[in-house]
Amino acid sequence: MAKNNDNGTEKALINIGIVVDARDETASIWAKWLVEQLKEEVEQIFPQFLWRFSILKRRDFSRSVPPDPLNLLEFGSDIKIEYGFDYVLVLTSFPLKSRFEQGVSGVPSNMLETVVISLARILELKDRKRQEKALISLVKHCLGHLWGLEHNSESVMRPRKFWSGEPPFDWSQQEKRHIYRHLRDIADPRVEETSPIKSKWKFYIKVLSLEWSSIFKDVLISRSVLMMFHLGRFIAATAVSIIFLFLSAEAWEMGAAIKSGWLDIILAGVIFASIISIYFGQNLQVISRSDRMKEQAVRSRIVLFATLFVGMVSFWISLFIISYLIINILPENVLAGWAGMGGKPLPAFHFSKLMATFGVLASAVGGNLEEEQDIKALLVYTEET
Ligand SMILES: [Zn+2]
Repeated sequence: MAKNNDNGTEKALINIGIVVDARDETASIWAKWLVEQLKEEVEQIFPQFLWRFSILKRRDFSRSVPPDPLNLLEFGSDIKIEYGFDYVLVLTSFPLKSRFEQGVSGVPSNMLETVVISLARILELKDRKRQEKALISLVKHCLGHLWGLEHNSESVMRPRKFWSGEPPFDWSQQEKRHIYRHLRDIADPRVEETSPIKSKWKFYIKVLSLEWSSIFKDVLISRSVLMMFHLGRFIAATAVSIIFLFLSAEAWEMGAAIKSGWLDIILAGVIFASIISIYFGQNLQVISRSDRMKEQAVRSRIVLFATLFVGMVSFWISLFIISYLIINILPENVLAGWAGMGGKPLPAFHFSKLMATFGVLASAVGGNLEEEQDIKALLVYTEET
């Protein structure tokens, strides 16, 4: 990010783009109001930065009704990379398609550093003052997420079902300090601005070494641990194959034949193959389309891969625990007979590992049956609010 010398002191620039559909009059009018209001507030709270807001009226805005926040996030993220914004806010007057919640007015994405805001429900509020209060608190809530904040019932970060213009309207003192530190770190020059790196791998490693802590946080915030359980068909495919495995003697015989060391290698291979299969099978690589090695595009890709990895590993661990429980519940002599173990005791740990590995393999196939958009949304959304 560029530094400037406007008023004698060096201030880091925070460059925010507001994107609206050129044909959406309502959104354009509100965008203008929002920029004035937001600029005034953040300049007062964070005078350490130079704030720049630009409104972009686009003619290639998505025309689907209701607009899918996922498409708008991708659209906003492309514009962010193209224009070199730090954050992008996509504003529409149409109600958004909701995936996980009842109704949705805002969808922030930490991964894409973009927010989609819908005015539809807010404009149903009676008086203008309420509408303004509701919009500004929704925007501050979503930006708060992008700037590393978690939910907090005492501040504007309180999670809400409906944005009705009720207080609290502001971040807490502690949150303001957190945002300041976050923005100060972000305001460091981007990798491509400081050093022209030709090799793709070197660029990835450089981004990783500079941003590993914030990437780590993003992966955990996106709650990838529970991600896999949101996917209905994914779970169904896994459950069915696990049940069949448990009922087939061949699986037990095979388990008895595979050495523990080999099983570990197979396990690593299966987890890697599942991630690759979901990543490319679901076209997740197109989330950050830009081919140029922009730091932000590379960062999004690393976060996406890491999220998928954490999701898969935690999924394996859950399957392992379930298998271990089932093996301990079933009569041991029957299982040992299936496994052809003779009179020897059944190695429950080894078999649980085997079943969980088969489960992940089945899930990778199931994962590719799942609606591509839903998997993407789970990975990309920070929340629906
Ligand atoms: Zn929230």
